[in-house]
Amino acid sequence: MSSRAIVPITCEKYTPTFDIILDEYYDQSPVKSRERNSIIYTCPCKSGSNLRTHTDFIKHFDTDHHKSYLKNYSNIVENEENEKNEKKELKIQNETLNRLLVIKNKIIEEKDEKIKNKDKKIKELYKIIDHIENIMGIEIKIRNPPYSE
Ligand SMILES: [Zn+2]
Repeated sequence: MSSRAIVPITCEKYTPTFDIILDEYYDQSPVKSRERNSIIYTCPCKSGSNLRTHTDFIKHFDTDHHKSYLKNYSNIVENEENEKNEKKELKIQNETLNRLLVIKNKIIEEKDEKIKNKDKKIKELYKIIDHIENIMGIEIKIRNPPYSE
């Protein structure tokens, strides 16, 4: 019988830690030396990086890829923050435009209904005019008729 238990593996993204006093990011392994964990970390500096142990992190922090990533990390964070804010603003703008569209569509529906009613009245008036023309034997000329039937 095996003493090993099956532990589910989870994946997490590694992010550098911010030093408030120095106002900069630095690397800190989320795994302590000789600690066993079931989390596999990936670092955005290089796709496919799987970091599990303290040693993995220490080696990774020393690579050129990662050093460059850490050096630019504050810009990356700033860009991500700007993109997040931009997305938020666009979402708000989109919502506002959608509401405006609903209002405009309602106005168009109401105008369409008014036009339909006016068309109906105009057709009725034409019928009346036809009837009067037939009874009186005259032709009534309409200036600028809205319809040419
Ligand atoms: Zn990295």
